[in-house]
Amino acid sequence: MKAIRRFTVRPALPERLSALEHLAGNLRWSWHGPTQELFSEIAPNAWRDFQHDPISLFGQISQDRIDALASDDSFVHRANALREDLNRYLTEPRWYQGLEGDKPELIAYFSPEFGIAAALPQYSGGLGILAGDHLKSASDLGVPLVAVGLFYRAGYFSQALSPDGWQQETYPVLDPDGLPLRVLRQPDGSPVIVTLMLPDDQVLSARIWLGRVGRVTLLLLDSDIPENSEELCHVTDRLYGGAEEHRLRQELLLGIGGVRAIGAWAERSGVRPPQVFHTNEGHAGFLGVERIRDLIRGGLNFNEALQVVRAGTVFTTHTPVPAGIDRFDSALIRRYFTTDLLPGVSAEDVLALGREPGAGMDGAFNMAVMGLRLGQRANGVSQLHGEVSRRMFSDLWPGFDTEDVPIGSVTNGVHPASWTAPQLTELAIRTLGTSDTANADWASPSVTDADLWGVRNQMRQELVSDARRRLKRAWLAQNPGGIAPDWMDTVLDPRVLTIGFARRVPTYKRLTLMLHDTERLRRLLLHPGRPVQIVIAGKAHPADIEGKRLIQKVVEFAQDPAVRERIVFLPNYDISMAQKLYPGTDVWLNNPLRPLEACGTSGMKAALNGVLNLSILDGWWNEFFDGENGWAIPSAVTEDAEERDRREAESMYDLIEHQIAPRFYERDTDDVPTNWLGNIRHTLSTLSPELSADRMVREYVNALYRPAFNSTSVLRHDGFRAARSLAEWKARVRDAWSGVSITHVESGGLDVAPQVGDELHLRATVRLGALTPNDVSVQVVYGRSTVNGDDLKDVQTAELVPADDAEASESGEWLFAGTVSLRRPGGFGYSVRVVPCHPLLDNPAELGLIAIA
Ligand SMILES: *Cc1c(COP(=O)(O)O)cnc(C)c1O
Repeated sequence: MKAIRRFTVRPALPERLSALEHLAGNLRWSWHGPTQELFSEIAPNAWRDFQHDPISLFGQISQDRIDALASDDSFVHRANALREDLNRYLTEPRWYQGLEGDKPELIAYFSPEFGIAAALPQYSGGLGILAGDHLKSASDLGVPLVAVGLFYRAGYFSQALSPDGWQQETYPVLDPDGLPLRVLRQPDGSPVIVTLMLPDDQVLSARIWLGRVGRVTLLLLDSDIPENSEELCHVTDRLYGGAEEHRLRQELLLGIGGVRAIGAWAERSGVRPPQVFHTNEGHAGFLGVERIRDLIRGGLNFNEALQVVRAGTVFTTHTPVPAGIDRFDSALIRRYFTTDLLPGVSAEDVLALGREPGAGMDGAFNMAVMGLRLGQRANGVSQLHGEVSRRMFSDLWPGFDTEDVPIGSVTNGVHPASWTAPQLTELAIRTLGTSDTANADWASPSVTDADLWGVRNQMRQELVSDARRRLKRAWLAQNPGGIAPDWMDTVLDPRVLTIGFARRVPTYKRLTLMLHDTERLRRLLLHPGRPVQIVIAGKAHPADIEGKRLIQKVVEFAQDPAVRERIVFLPNYDISMAQKLYPGTDVWLNNPLRPLEACGTSGMKAALNGVLNLSILDGWWNEFFDGENGWAIPSAVTEDAEERDRREAESMYDLIEHQIAPRFYERDTDDVPTNWLGNIRHTLSTLSPELSADRMVREYVNALYRPAFNSTSVLRHDGFRAARSLAEWKARVRDAWSGVSITHVESGGLDVAPQVGDELHLRATVRLGALTPNDVSVQVVYGRSTVNGDDLKDVQTAELVPADDAEASESGEWLFAGTVSLRRPGGFGYSVRVVPCHPLLDNPAELGLIAIA
């Protein structure tokens, strides 16, 4: 009989083993090797099979085994020591505690997905993994973070393949009782419930699951509760599934419900509410309007509240393509906000926040645009992506040059302890005396070439075994009761140069570029002396038919008996596969259409393991490729897409054939590839510290969280005095701006033939209308100019100040003057501009107002 409902009963461990429950209750075990070793000792095979999940592991062990462990003094002693170690980790001062000066007491981090451990599958790809790594590094650094997301009953989908290579999705339902989460409860034991008013007097309710990620608390909202109608129970059914309205409900719950959940949690745990909010991509953007509502209830008007919210909000955009941005029909937004969802906030005010520049009242509602309007500080996720984002959103700051668009960049990072193979960590401990692999001295002779190569070989061997196991399991799932074919035991060769390629399958990532010339690929795979093998994985979004076709093409190619032992597609790419896959490869391949890969993190995770990257100069690789840490596939500059693919594919084949394979197979008398190892050492010692999420989180703290905290503190001070005056000032400046213009610029001080060292004197007559010189900054913008009159290069700005004799003429004209020294020979050009100026602006472009000479 089939059960109508199932749940997990957690075993009662004896008192002597209580440390195990303590250790399993905090996801820190997922990146703490010694704790994992302890769990694996309990039942090594089960530990591997239950996706490295201690809670389901405890549910599988026999009473005999529990008794044996409880009477094993050495085991109990180690478990207790690890519990103490965890408690120390959770309480001792860390990096953040040592920072001088003002800093937030609590930062809220919102994300639609979190990829923390295989045991908690609440992610679809890079965005979620990044969020997970952000939490882990924040925890390691002692950054006080509370994270908010949704609890998806079926997470993302599981991928299988039909015999003809077509992706098949299943949605295994998770049982939260069997996960490292607990329900947030009232003192009387009843669950804390947050509610949202929806149209037609419906109420969406959600309970809150609480997880611990080291020092970070994770709150996940779950709508699958009896309080909800059948329909509303499904709001949190799965990640990125369903139609527009379903997605909107998820995002309302995440943003608005998320702020309410933090409020309830903070009250229950006696902590002060967060001062800074960080939204990882636009999906959680409604968190800003909920906070506006709260401030309006406290007596501010919409514009005053907006200033406070903006000051304390950091928005990170991840999408370099307009099509990737989340948009809603404005009628849908109007319907949802013409309710009691946010008392005191009008639907029109919400709509205005998400309206695209130049769009009419019924134009689409754009979540990224709202994110930028609700966050005073915004960033892309690599330097190149910062540039692309400034261009993509430049319409929001009309009149400003792209470089002036107030979107910066913080390049993503990855959490070393989660992504470094245990063999490499052991090698570092054994030879370099540290488990901090990201900052170890890998160039040191204490690590011999033979040691390092031995470990690299082990990692490849593990991938080969893992791949064979996975292929057989997948085959058996398709052919129940059958016997997997023999060739699956010899798929892949642990000695062959191994290239990895795994990622989601949107078209821009070009999964099938390697198939461009199948004959050439065959020759590379089957080369008699220098063969190559390729391991591929990736999921297509369930609605992405084109993506599924690409997977099918790869699978079809890989089914050919002539090459099937050299190229495999592994179904169901996820964290547990990734943790074996990256370390087990020698080369990590990445061939997106530049510049569509915002950052890309799989190559970073590979590099931490001594894997060399072979990649288009996109995302992170564009700023970190140095000629010794891997290879750059040149981007072909052509409008013709086919031609571009052809040239880029050929560059890739050429690199593999003429540079990569020869270097890999060039061995000394002990069969060690000395030159290759030189590249590995260089990668490990120079790249790893930069790629660490610790570097990323420190940047967020110093460049974004702390300035945001300072801004909001000023605005909140003394009953929001500065917020009120800033709102009033902005309104006044906006109203008056049409009266601002530069009427005349004159220069002097230069000879006919200006020389380096000369000074250029400038005087600008500026009409300010109803404004005064205090409201504006008049700037000379200067730099190198070229003959063909392109934009200025190496641009700098200098202030012009009101001239001594300045006095408003009756027409409201003011004279500003200043000097620029000519420091460089060559073409020189300048222009003059007026922008609003206020001490609480973070950037002169912030209001999107400018007057140009
Ligand atoms: C790192 C990771 C990703 C993201 O990799 P990209 O290079 O950004 O595409 C996706 N899925 C899993 C399981 C990962 O570990």
